[in-house]
Amino acid sequence: MPPFDVPEGDPFGTHNLPYGVFSPSGSTERRVGVRLGDHVLDAAAAAAALGSPYHSLLTGPTLNQFLAAGRATWSDVRRAITSWITNPAHHEAIEPLFRHLSEVTLHLPFEVADYVDFYASENHARNVGQIFRPDSADPLTPNWKHLPIGYHGRSGTVVVSGTDVVRPSGQRKAPTDPAPVFGPSVRLDIEAEVGFVVGVPSRLGSPVALGDFREHVFGLCLLNDWSARDIQAWEYVPLGPFLGKSFATSVSAWITPLEALEHARVAPPERTHPLLPYLDDSAPGIEPGGYDLRISVAINGHVVSEPPFSTMYWTAAQQLAQMTANGASLRTGDLYGSGTVSGPEERQRGCLLELTWSGRDPLELPDGKRAFLEDGDVVTLSAWAPGADGRRVGLGEVSGRVVAG
Ligand code: CA
Repeated sequence: MPPFDVPEGDPFGTHNLPYGVFSPSGSTERRVGVRLGDHVLDAAAAAAALGSPYHSLLTGPTLNQFLAAGRATWSDVRRAITSWITNPAHHEAIEPLFRHLSEVTLHLPFEVADYVDFYASENHARNVGQIFRPDSADPLTPNWKHLPIGYHGRSGTVVVSGTDVVRPSGQRKAPTDPAPVFGPSVRLDIEAEVGFVVGVPSRLGSPVALGDFREHVFGLCLLNDWSARDIQAWEYVPLGPFLGKSFATSVSAWITPLEALEHARVAPPERTHPLLPYLDDSAPGIEPGGYDLRISVAINGHVVSEPPFSTMYWTAAQQLAQMTANGASLRTGDLYGSGTVSGPEERQRGCLLELTWSGRDPLELPDGKRAFLEDGDVVTLSAWAPGADGRRVGLGEVSGRVVAG
């Protein structure tokens, strides 16, 4: 089917146009691509063919140069590409520059600068609090309703969808064990999250205001924060996650521009505690910071959960304000994860820790019971968001297979 004949209702139609980086089959050259249906348009080649000034900005090997260009340029380029694709006068020139997805290799689309991960779902935080700290009176820690809690992850181990994940080894000690042991994790888990990609840097010493979120953040992707619960539980007190998380974080190959998600913007849940001014998104002039993204989690093709991103208590704008509140600067390519997305219902939980209640209630899958992941398991996150006129905006899936260490 020719690339322009995208079926009505395709979640990757002309209303979406996410960006990625690909190599055509048989080549190792990394080129910036824009997805349309099941095809990828070579963006720099199209710009060159049509005499567009954006040719060098859209030249690979990563999206970083484009990400750094800023909101006005992001909009101009999106308008230009939309015109190339929708105006039949351009079709003859650019049709040869499309490749079918089956004829390309997709790469990590941007060079990841810093990677930070948050903990923004109240449902998730309450469930994990009950599981990890059963003796606490309140499953939420005293700070939880006052600031978005986060930790610094390892940017060098962020990998693109399709990359195998090697089961990590580490130190673990169950409360009843007399001494710690070292070996492959026996409680390997996923965390279904959304990753936000920073384009425009900020100056050291200058916090980024809530209202400036869209000037800095280009777009979002699905993210799987693989987690070894046994390693995590033993190591995390008092400085937080470390080796239980840093072995791999998977992201989708496609970055969806925020501009494609205008119709998915929603108000976050009602705030139960007053917020300090730098986080107060009820202030006049602050736009709603939530996004209505419908996520689906599948293990070996079997859907086990459908977490709703609209239930997240803390928004991406608040997380950006929090991580720069001390004057820490942003760099192009910074990535921050939302935290596990868990809704209020059991089948809306975004990790096995919650879905199986720490292994107590294993999932019944067609290929057997699962408390945690087994070698060979393939975990796939997918999602869509409402677009204009009842259309769906698809997010690129993120998939990974667990292999023995
Ligand atoms: Ca996480």
